[in-house]
Order: sequence, then structure tokens, then C-alpha cells
Amino acid sequence: LEQAVVQADKLSAVGLMAAGLAHEINNPLASISAYTEDLQDRLREEPAARLQESGELDQYLGTIRQQALRCKGFVDSMLRFTRRESGPSRLIRVEDALRDTLALIHYRFRRLGARVTLDLAPELPPVRGEPGLLEQVVLNLLANAADALEDAAAAGAESRPGLRLGARTEDGWVVIEVEDTGPGIPPEHLPRLFEPFFTTKPPGKGTGLGLAVCQDIVRAMGGEIRVESELGRGTRVTVRLPPAAGPQPAESEGGGGTWPTNP
Ligand code: ADP
Repeated sequence: LEQAVVQADKLSAVGLMAAGLAHEINNPLASISAYTEDLQDRLREEPAARLQESGELDQYLGTIRQQALRCKGFVDSMLRFTRRESGPSRLIRVEDALRDTLALIHYRFRRLGARVTLDLAPELPPVRGEPGLLEQVVLNLLANAADALEDAAAAGAESRPGLRLGARTEDGWVVIEVEDTGPGIPPEHLPRLFEPFFTTKPPGKGTGLGLAVCQDIVRAMGGEIRVESELGRGTRVTVRLPPAAGPQPAESEGGGGTWPTNP
């Protein structure tokens, strides 16, 4: 649980960072746009050859390139940050990851009087990855569900809010589902959900990075993430992960070396 708490801190740090990034990137983008416009004006008035001879063309393009690189630097450092703490890949017990993460954010559902269901199929195979990162994915999805249920409550929804966190296997995948009875997502938003910085939440509440980060982590684990939603009924996010294949240290250690060793 302690690790999950660390992840929660990191999550809000990412939020702050996103706000910072938007701010930092705004100035270089404004200069790129101003220098480009300026250069277009100049090229309308005089031949490009003359601007090139005087070295001005190079100056314009140099400044534009430098400002673009500044933006890229900010974005790169943020991406590095979001992946910063990825430690070694381990076998993860999905049940534990879900339970620990739910415990961390359960108070938000309790406060809403929501009906919370943890629906774990027996004998789930472990997955491989960094436990803290999988917990970050689940925490982001649960936080979105809590936001959605809070919105529904604020809008005066009458039925009791519900959250279901489930895990099962299907077609050889380990499938994790987060379902809420919130207001749902308008169809026109669905294609944009995984875009970094796409958010419908007020500043300070949403960064638009949650699902983008989730997708990044899930893909790095060899899996996929999907969102289904119906307006007025709720949202279901499905994460599919490949089960950990090959030697499973907890079982093979001291077990007589039945697994081939890696070259
Ligand atoms: P953020 O939560 O910071 O806005 P996300 O990337 O996690 O960023 O989500 C992007 C957008 O997707 C949200 O602003 C919201 O409009 C929508 N969304 C995500 N999850 C849900 C959900 N469970 N119910 C309704 N809308 C959702």
C-alpha cells in the first residue's frame, strides 16, 4: 500500500507538471508563430534570395528551430518523468494490485454512498511488469470513475452510484475492468480520450494525462486498453494484459530446475 501512496503523490506531481508544461510551452509556441508570420510578410515584400544573402532568412529559421527544440525539451523531460520510477519488471499478482489500489481511493466511493463491487475470478494468472505502474493505471481509472460518479451526484442523479472493479481471463488474456454508473462520455469525445491533455474537467481538476499515461503503460506491458460508454448509463474501461509466460520464480525456485535457463 505504501508504494501505491507514493504513486498517488507522483500522479499529482504529474498533474502539476502538466500545468507547468502548458505554461512553459506557451511562450516558445507564441514566438514560433510570430517569427513564422513575420517571415511570411517579409517574403511577400522581397525576394527570398535577398533575405538569404543578408543572412536574415537563416536568422528567422534558426530562431524558429531553437524555439521548437525548447518545446521538445519540455515534452521529453515530462515523458521521462512519467516513466521515471519504472523499476525492474516483476511478476504481479493482479488481485493484490487491484485490492491495494482500491483501498487507496475507496474513501471517495464511500463518501458518495456508492455500491462498490470487487469482482475477482479465482486463479488469475500473474502478469509481468512493474507493480507500481500497473497500480498507477488502475488508480487513474478509479479516479476517473470517482469523478464521474461525483458529477452524476452533483447533477442530482437518483439511483445509487455504482462502481465495479473486476478481473478475469478471456481468450488467454488477463482482463481488468473498471465500470461506473456515471454520466457516460459523449460519442464525439471517444476518439480523443487517449490524447494527452484532452480533458473536459475544470483546470486544477483534470490534466488530460490520465488515460494517455494509462495507455502508455499498458502498451509497454504488451496489452491494450479500451473505453466503452453510454450516455446516461455509465462507462466501462477494459485493460487486457498478457499473462506472464515462462518461469515463475515463486514456483520454480528450488523446484528442481524444470524450466530452461535463459542463455
Ligand atoms: P482527466 O481525467 O485529467 O481529464 P483523462 O485522460 O484521465 O484526463 O480523461 C480524459 C477525459 O475522458 C476526461 O476529462 C473525461 O471527459 C473522460 N473520461 C475518462 N474517464 C471517464 C469516466 N469514467 N466517465 C466519464 N468520462 C470519463
